[in-house]
Amino acid sequence: MINKIRLIEEFLRLSAIDAHSFQERKKADYIIERLNELCFKVEEDQAGSIYGGNAGNLYAYKKGEIEGPPILFSAHLDTVAPGEGIKVMQTQEGMLVSDGTTILGADDNSGLSAILEALQSIHESQEKHRDLELLFTIGEEAYLKGSQVFDYSNIRAKQAYVLDLSGKVGTAAIAAPSVLSFTVSVTGKASHAGFAPEEGIHAIEIVADIISKIQQGRLDEETTLNIGFIEGGTGTNIVPASCVFKGEVRSLNHEKAEKLLEQVEKKIKTETQRKGASYKMETSVGCKAYRVDEKSEVIQSFERACRKVEISPNMMTTLGGSDNNNFAQHGIEGIVLACAMEQVHSCQEYAEIAELEKITQITYELMKSVTVK
Ligand SMILES: [Zn+2]
Repeated sequence: MINKIRLIEEFLRLSAIDAHSFQERKKADYIIERLNELCFKVEEDQAGSIYGGNAGNLYAYKKGEIEGPPILFSAHLDTVAPGEGIKVMQTQEGMLVSDGTTILGADDNSGLSAILEALQSIHESQEKHRDLELLFTIGEEAYLKGSQVFDYSNIRAKQAYVLDLSGKVGTAAIAAPSVLSFTVSVTGKASHAGFAPEEGIHAIEIVADIISKIQQGRLDEETTLNIGFIEGGTGTNIVPASCVFKGEVRSLNHEKAEKLLEQVEKKIKTETQRKGASYKMETSVGCKAYRVDEKSEVIQSFERACRKVEISPNMMTTLGGSDNNNFAQHGIEGIVLACAMEQVHSCQEYAEIAELEKITQITYELMKSVTVK
């Protein structure tokens, strides 16, 4: 049975370990120790050294007694900043909060503690379970870096649950977007702002024109565009020769995102040519969209697990990427589960203990689930 006190203690132990992206060593060591206690064989990959970090992704496997293909459970080891010296406090209303100077780190310590407590419960009562695979990633908050380089030939599961979502427990994201980011450098021509402004080509002005012609925000129900960075010029007495801006496009439809990016480039091309400037545009695919069929086993067994613990399941789409986007690229059908983390990436982040218990119960049921034909 899930032990609430032990679950909270697990959360507190995890929160006490600083683990900004690429600084996950201590947390990885702690998790390895815990998984060894739970009789898992743990392997660490080289993802850390690829990114100059100090820990790799942790993969673990344990054979079960219940028939059926293995199931993968995943959460990420890292947290965003400010996440050093987190002091967790428990409110009278049953919330876990930080002291307000740091994040709480429920993203993703809630996911990690739910998985560990579910495993602990199964272990102590020697209950039968499915073949279990675990993947705890590094650098998720730095645009899914760890899961990008993991060697998926290790994974036997075709079905995954990623515990890394805000919202009421029972909620699961079954579709997520492509995120395409772009960096544009516009090069004009410098000249003295007082003596010879006519001789300059004003890069900042051109960028302002470009941006004013690009529609931003929510473009349709599955697509957004944002320009979130701009930098240019060297001094107030100089017509600026260069200006850089960065943005992103997200859409649940990958082709739509690509088309939108082409349209953005067309506008950049037209404006820079018109003013005699030049530009360079770099684009990168942060993650690629996926959608899981509602009839698939991964969703069906999640819904069964929810009902077993009297929680109503709720399938939704999200415009946020997660490690699950990378899993999908490797043929793993996964969904992302809400797991007691609210107002994430802020110092107001909180976790409701009752919700944390619920996701732990669901995880426990999933680990013991029987496939229905
Ligand atoms: Zn997260």
